[in-house]
Amino acid sequence: MEIKKNDIVVVTIDDIGMDGEGIGKVDGYTLFIKDAIIGDKIEAKVMKTKKNYGYARLMNIIEPSAYRVEPKCSLARPCGGCQIQSMSYERQLVFKQDKVKNNLIRIGGFLEEDIHMHPIIGMDNPWRYRNKAQVPVGRDKDGNLATGFYAGRTHDIINQKDCYIGSKKNQIILNKVKEFMDIYGIPPYYEATHMGLIRHILIREGFVTGEIMVCLIMNGDKLPESDKLVKSLLEVEGMTSISLNVNKEKTNVILGKEIINLYGEGYIYDYIGNVKYQISPLSFYQVNPVQTKVLYEKALEYADLKGDETVWDLYCGIGTISLFLAQKAKRVYGVEIVPAAIEDAKKNAKLNGFDNARFYVGKAEEVLPEAYEKEKIYADVIVVDPPRKGCDETLLDTIVKMSPKRVVYVSCDSATLARDLRYLSDRGYQVEKVQPVDMFPHTGHVETVVLMSRVDN
Ligand code: SAH
Repeated sequence: MEIKKNDIVVVTIDDIGMDGEGIGKVDGYTLFIKDAIIGDKIEAKVMKTKKNYGYARLMNIIEPSAYRVEPKCSLARPCGGCQIQSMSYERQLVFKQDKVKNNLIRIGGFLEEDIHMHPIIGMDNPWRYRNKAQVPVGRDKDGNLATGFYAGRTHDIINQKDCYIGSKKNQIILNKVKEFMDIYGIPPYYEATHMGLIRHILIREGFVTGEIMVCLIMNGDKLPESDKLVKSLLEVEGMTSISLNVNKEKTNVILGKEIINLYGEGYIYDYIGNVKYQISPLSFYQVNPVQTKVLYEKALEYADLKGDETVWDLYCGIGTISLFLAQKAKRVYGVEIVPAAIEDAKKNAKLNGFDNARFYVGKAEEVLPEAYEKEKIYADVIVVDPPRKGCDETLLDTIVKMSPKRVVYVSCDSATLARDLRYLSDRGYQVEKVQPVDMFPHTGHVETVVLMSRVDN
């Protein structure tokens, strides 16, 4: 039987795709089905077909999988922020562990016994882990003010009541902003016409300090009656910084460059472990601080520092890992492409009294080779934490030339991780330990930290 668009098929889900979607076969033809859970027997509607595989939509669950759970959030399916809330957390962890393992075997060409995988570190409580919310403001289909997420491909906003992966306080804050907008007739931004004022509400919370930041992203630079909003928001415990961000562009980039302070100094503080960070609305900061600590402590453990080492931290961002390492190393050098992140890194080094950390702006694959050729720089340990596309080959070549004892690889994409580990494995390094960490429960993402060591012969 040939599978065609709009066919209704019955299918048993027997595998999980890269993003957590269900995979099943009908007469040997593979279908990818979002929201279907491995073990489900379902009815699905074929939406799109290609030569060897197609995509279908879950219509009806005939026999639920043993791994299927009632999602905590009734909007989990239309929202799209979480992809696998209907899968039990235990099974989510197995899925992520397997994803890393299979990529290392299939893409990296490693043997299972050679990669020394440790069981994934999950969260004891996989809810309310996000310290940041960025919520669009608009109107629902009845014209009422709404904060939540866009409904399908429309400009209508579906009102979200409480997001269970975010802070409990978010809803109180969002309601206060909505109430203020209603009372003073402040219009939300309307994408289609580029009219209206309030585009997004950004909320950040220091989980250790309890400090809260609220920033309204506006299509304008004046907020009428802003003192009334400040007064209302200050009723929320922990409120430390209230500001406006100006974004008058026709763009889906959320934040503009200009910040106007309404209350406080324009930043909050938080800690990861013993290291203190200053966070402004524009700063990059990890969104799951609890698991970030777990991940970076692993990276520090794998670096195995005794106190006299020189360490390079490549793709260092605001220096989160660099400063973790600076607690134990003699010297740390960080390299990062975004200048504002390096400003934050320097500020945070000072804030913590570290005078052994130095930061460079630039592409890791340019800064490191150049410094090596010109100054013959040296490293005992090199840490990399690249974006999804992984490390540039020029950079890996320089790492091989510098020949550090250990390379610690922190990765948010196990496919490019596998590729890069293979490259280093073919050039004098061996994989010692692989540790997946679940930073984003209910989504398909998984972080991994790997220790490689130089093979001396
Ligand atoms: N460890 C960092 C986060 C790393 S995320 C922290 O905790 O803050 C990856 C970082 O790599 C981002 O900050 C991104 O801006 C940076 N980046 C992307 N391409 C780069 C390149 N070619 N060279 C250096 N940094 C790069």
